[in-house]
Amino acid sequence: MARPTRAVVDHLPASPAQTGLRRIRRLTEVYAYLSVTVFTLQLLFVGTGHERLVPILLVPVMLAAWRLWPNRGGWAVALAEGVIVHGAVFVLPNPAPVINFLFAVTMRRALFGSQERFPVKVVPAMLGYVSGFVAWIAFKPVVVTGPLVASVVMPLMGLAVAALALHETVRSVRLMEDAHRTVEAVVRASPIGLVLLDVFGAPRLHNDRARELLDWRGDESGRVPCPHGPDITSCEHGCRAGDDPVEVRVTRADGTTGVLAVQAVPVEHVSEQHTLVTALDVSKRRELEDALRTRAERDELTGLAGRTHFLHLVDEALLAGEAVGLLVIDLDGFKEVNDAEGHEAGDWYLVSAAERIGRAVGPVATAARLGGDEFAVLAPGHDVRESARLATRILSELARPLTGLGHDTVIRASVGIAVSSPGAGTAELLRDADTAMYVAKREGGGRVRLFRPEMGERVLARQRDKADLRTAVSDGQLVLHYQPIVDLATSEAAGAEALVRWQRPGHGLLGPGEFIGLAEETGLIVALGNKVLAGACEQAMRWREQGRSLGVTVNVSTRQLSAPAFLPSLDRVLKTTGLPPERLTIEVTESVWADGAAMRGLMEVRETGVRVALDDFGTGYSSLSYLQRYPFDVVKIDRSFTNALAETGRTAGVVRCIIDLAEVLGAHTVAEGIETQAQADWLRNAGCAYAQGYLFGRPDLAENWDTQPSVPH
Ligand code: C2E
Ligand code: MG
Ligand code: MG
Repeated sequence: MARPTRAVVDHLPASPAQTGLRRIRRLTEVYAYLSVTVFTLQLLFVGTGHERLVPILLVPVMLAAWRLWPNRGGWAVALAEGVIVHGAVFVLPNPAPVINFLFAVTMRRALFGSQERFPVKVVPAMLGYVSGFVAWIAFKPVVVTGPLVASVVMPLMGLAVAALALHETVRSVRLMEDAHRTVEAVVRASPIGLVLLDVFGAPRLHNDRARELLDWRGDESGRVPCPHGPDITSCEHGCRAGDDPVEVRVTRADGTTGVLAVQAVPVEHVSEQHTLVTALDVSKRRELEDALRTRAERDELTGLAGRTHFLHLVDEALLAGEAVGLLVIDLDGFKEVNDAEGHEAGDWYLVSAAERIGRAVGPVATAARLGGDEFAVLAPGHDVRESARLATRILSELARPLTGLGHDTVIRASVGIAVSSPGAGTAELLRDADTAMYVAKREGGGRVRLFRPEMGERVLARQRDKADLRTAVSDGQLVLHYQPIVDLATSEAAGAEALVRWQRPGHGLLGPGEFIGLAEETGLIVALGNKVLAGACEQAMRWREQGRSLGVTVNVSTRQLSAPAFLPSLDRVLKTTGLPPERLTIEVTESVWADGAAMRGLMEVRETGVRVALDDFGTGYSSLSYLQRYPFDVVKIDRSFTNALAETGRTAGVVRCIIDLAEVLGAHTVAEGIETQAQADWLRNAGCAYAQGYLFGRPDLAENWDTQPSVPH
């Protein structure tokens, strides 16, 4: 690096050199005032004639000027001094005070100017002073006239001050050179590139780091780039006076790239306007920031846009006043894939879906993953028709056969579309598309639905129902009714099925058909199911305590059974109530076979000694092979068979077959929905052990059971 700059020195704290100079300056100042006083007194008491009045009047002016403009030796002050001194020469017999005064004035000026020029200025002052005395001694006999102070003490003091000033000057120059060398070492070792630009913007000085960072080749210094162009000098965006560093991407001759934080600071308090440019390599930090930004913008699993970034893009498109089509896509049955095949397969399924959505969308729109199995597409400039076409394209791309899970499968999805209207916000648009998607899903999935305002009302009503149901579960609005399960041989109740009802304020008593579906969708079924389970077990214990030998049967939904918390809460209920496990039967429907987690849960339940019944047998995807593989304690023949018994001989054949099969598998059969004595008789004759139906008793509160005919005491 070339010499370090003075500019850099200026920004350092006061150096010892500066302190020394300041001290000598103060001393000279005192001496100057003293000599002025002596000179004035001499004029007053030693001078002759009226001429002396001129300097007498001017001295106060000069003193005032020194006070008011201590740092300035302006022409007016110089003129006043000149007149005083020259006037004095005419009127004074002893010139010593004049010489002192002249010396003090010159010294003072020299010290108040630039420190750098002090040695140069102080030399003539000294020469003038010494030669003045030499001339005086040589040409005039030394006559000590006037007060001793003016003639002897003042000259001697002047000499002492001059000697001190010289000494201090020499010392300060040395110290400054030291300071320069120190700064040079600092600048050289600096990890920051430093370049000093002159008033024309040409690099004057720079360190090696700057050369390296700015990729300057050879001996020549090159350009300092800025974000607005190849050279900061020609930048008209204020880069040369910026308070904050600007980041510039640079490509070096060897092809590597990097990012520099460049800051240009004007260097003040120097004779020429300079600019100091600092260049810092921030490539690593920038790389990290870019990586973090990408992480925030992209969904890690699928590589599609992430939720936050996507919403930001929708915001921007809406702000730009564009018509925007927004598609919300939810995969159908993803939970089953995830549960049955495991999370790795689930991830792979999601990635495949993302790839297909991305492919269907192409460059005209932006696809994103909003979370879970929910995706979205922003289609700028798409009206209803174009958005619908895009949605259909996505569905058919998703529906192409997917191999890789060990068996062929297809990806099904429900798509909701909302198209922006003027003034619509992102949240509103997303909510509408989401509502439409929800409707598509409720209608069976695998379809596209366009948002219509009435859909919103339905969804609102649902949200109200959901909130009310949550309150119902926690506030004890759920009521349990019990329906007897009768032993057909004795016509006496052997057990009771607990059937939940909701005493909903303002709506009356609601049957499970009106809220179980909602509870399952929202996950509230878990809390609801626990309440039912606990209530039923408590009731069974109460019966036991009353000496009634009744088992209790509780319906458990597949969703509830697949929750990992099911088994622990079942255990807890049995422990707290003290009910023997074999007194409890849980009823599950055939949908349990399609859910791996629920199936595993069921196996664990059986190990506790709790009995398991297969409810509504014959209505779902009944598979006799499943029935064989997973043994049940009870098979409940669905009401539809009982109803149809009298109608066709074929139904009777099927029912007989179910009863026989259950017997082979070691399970009891319970026929549901018995309303007539004929149905009961037929079933008894066919070998069915138990039955349940209005004939024996309707579901009712336990306290009303005393009036039921078939309940034993
Ligand atoms: P399910 O388990 O098959 O219950 C039998 C249903 O048939 C009950 O309807 C009962 O009132 C009705 N029923 C009984 N005998 C007759 C009859 O002779 N004729 C006719 N027409 N119907 C009869 P409910 O109480 O409305 O329950 C409907 C379904 O709701 C139940 O079917 C069960 O799947 C579900 N459910 C009830 N309580 C719960 C519960 O606590 N948890 C869960 N997850 N599901 C429940
Ligand atoms: Mg049931
Ligand atoms: Mg049933």
